[in-house]
Amino acid sequence: MLTIRDKLPDEFLNAYPAELKSLLGGPTLINLGGMQARPLFMSILLHGNEITGLLAVQALLSRYHSTPLPRAVSIFIGNVEAARVGKRLLPGQRDYNRIWINGSGAEYDMAHTVLEVMREREVFACIDIHNNTGKNPYYAIIAEPDVDHLKCAALFSNTVVYATCPDTTCTVAFSKLCPSVTLEAGLPGDPVGVEQTVRFLETCLRLDDFTTQALHPVNLFHTVAVVKVRDCCSYGFLGEDVDVQLTDEIDHYNFRELEPGTCLARVRNGNQRCLDVQHVDGRQVYSDYFRVIGSDLQAARAVMPAMLTTDRDIISLDCLCYLMERLPQSELKNELD
Ligand SMILES: [Zn+2]
Repeated sequence: MLTIRDKLPDEFLNAYPAELKSLLGGPTLINLGGMQARPLFMSILLHGNEITGLLAVQALLSRYHSTPLPRAVSIFIGNVEAARVGKRLLPGQRDYNRIWINGSGAEYDMAHTVLEVMREREVFACIDIHNNTGKNPYYAIIAEPDVDHLKCAALFSNTVVYATCPDTTCTVAFSKLCPSVTLEAGLPGDPVGVEQTVRFLETCLRLDDFTTQALHPVNLFHTVAVVKVRDCCSYGFLGEDVDVQLTDEIDHYNFRELEPGTCLARVRNGNQRCLDVQHVDGRQVYSDYFRVIGSDLQAARAVMPAMLTTDRDIISLDCLCYLMERLPQSELKNELD
C-alpha cells in the first residue's frame, strides 16, 4: 500500500489535504536529496484531519523551489484516505499512529518498510507532526530519556513530555534510530502553530548535529498514566443524562497542576468505577489519582493532565486524558555536565 518516490509531484506544494488521495494514490514516502546526506524524516497526516504538518511541509519546501535543500528530507504522507474527508481515520482502518510495531496486516508492513528505508538512509532525526482538539500549549513529546532527543524537542517548545505509552507510535519506533519528536502543534491548521512548525523544521534542516547544540531551558514532564472512561459508562457534559458529566471547558485544565479536590466531573450515584486509570507500567491506579466525594469526581492528589478535550469522538477513539508529573533533567541519559 506504500508508494516510494524520489521526486515531489509538482502539484504537491499547493494541494489541499482532500486532494492528496488522487494526487498520490495512497500513503507515500518521498525522498529528496540535499547538501547533507542524512535525511530529516517528517511524518504528516498520520491522522487525516491533522493538517498542520502538511501546511508546514508545503511552506518549508516552497522556500527551496530553486535552491538545494541544506539536508536531504524524507516526507511520509500517511492517511490520505482519511484526509480526503477530514477524519482522523476511516471506519475499518487502523490508527496510523498505532502501527509502528511488529504486527500482521498491510498497515504494519507499510510502517515497517518506512522504518527500514529510513534506517538504510541513516535518518538524521524524526519529526512526526500532529494536532489536538483541546486547549493545549504547543508542545513536543519524546520517547527516549536522552539529551539529544530533548534538545531537538526544545527547539520547538519549552514544554516537553517524555512518554513511552502507547508504544506503537512513529516517534517510539524512530527513537531507536535517531532523535525523535512528536509535535503537538495546537488545533489543526492554527496559523501560529503552522508558523512555529515551519521555523522548527527549518532549524532542524540547517543543524549539523544535536550533540554540539545547546539545550534550551525546558519544562519536562513525563506521562505516568492514561485515563479512559470505562466502556460500561456513558459520558457527556454537565446537565446531560449520562453516567459521567464532565465539567464544561475541561480542556482548560491541560498542563495545569491540579490541587487535590479539584472537581473534574459529576458521576451518577457516586459511581467510583467510571474511569479506567492505567499506569504506564500496566498497573490499575484509579484510587491513587481520583476519588468520588458525593457525586463529585475529584483529583485525589496534585496531578497535571494533558490532552483533555471536549471532542466526544476523541474521548472514545483515544482516551479522556493523560496524567503527567515533572521529570527532573537529572534522570535523562547522557545528561549535560
Ligand atoms: Zn494525531
